[in-house]
Amino acid sequence: MASIFLFATYFVAAAVLSQFSAVHKREAKREQMEMLQMFAFYKDETEKFTFRQQLRMELPDGMGEEDVVIEDDYVEQVARIRLPGVGKDYFESHPLLGRSYNIDQIYMENGMIEIALDGVYEVESSVKDGYLCLDFLMPRQLYDKVVIVDAGHGGSAIGNLKRGIAEKDINLAIALQLKELLQGNDKRIGVYFTRTTDEDPSFSRRAQLGEKAGADYFISIHCNSSSDGQMSEESGTEVMYDETKGQDKNPGRRLAQICLEEVAGAFGSKPKGVFPGSGSYVIRENQVTAVSIELGYMTNQEELGKLKDPKYQKLAAEGIYRAILRAIEEGL
Ligand SMILES: [Zn+2]
Repeated sequence: MASIFLFATYFVAAAVLSQFSAVHKREAKREQMEMLQMFAFYKDETEKFTFRQQLRMELPDGMGEEDVVIEDDYVEQVARIRLPGVGKDYFESHPLLGRSYNIDQIYMENGMIEIALDGVYEVESSVKDGYLCLDFLMPRQLYDKVVIVDAGHGGSAIGNLKRGIAEKDINLAIALQLKELLQGNDKRIGVYFTRTTDEDPSFSRRAQLGEKAGADYFISIHCNSSSDGQMSEESGTEVMYDETKGQDKNPGRRLAQICLEEVAGAFGSKPKGVFPGSGSYVIRENQVTAVSIELGYMTNQEELGKLKDPKYQKLAAEGIYRAILRAIEEGL
């Protein structure tokens, strides 16, 4: 009986989130916060969701869970709920129910509801009693450690270019190999990528992702070049960190050292050292412990051969994977 009452309260109290203008946003946020407090008061302790709110929407007759496609664009912090064939007018008469001060904006168009969020969330969906239910989970609830992997450059920003080989492609290939290694890991490590395709998220999008996801480490992947861009004998792996953070103890420096040892060891390159990297935007403007790995020199003929070879790319990814495990073991 109590649960029926609470369920009814839930819907009676439910704030209708529809398209609201920026002018009304503050009022809407306050309203949502009041609803949130009310919900927290009644909350069922067994509920697992964290932004303490579930969004619900009645589905059209005949529509099931398998018809709903959810895209979680966590780099942009936008979740898109695709309901093919459902018109905008349906959303207006059957709005999303729920409350949240973690939602910045909701847009609706034919076949899609777009929800702009204030951080990185994993979206879980289910269908109960004809309602689509959406839960938004913070990475911290699902994982013990959270890592951001940043494949340098992308899209029209190609990075170094040598003998027809673009740095952006090598960086991405290694990030994708690392994705394979980390997928389904039993160590409860959550990983988010600034990109998994040939695109170029802005520096600020990249740098803020760690904070938005509540991450522990941010690891950027790059390939080096001689200072004049000419082919040379210069070779080896370098890792950059923010030398301005921390006085006696700089976790970035320690993470950089671990990455240097593990990556150079796996890739079979010369460990050149760890270096100040606050000149790099994504290192300097990062709220989490950040490093940038320069795997090897594209201007060195032998290293270029290895960097473009999927076999060596896998070795480099394994080195980064081991570095992550070691950093966790050390309690960084
Ligand atoms: Zn680069």
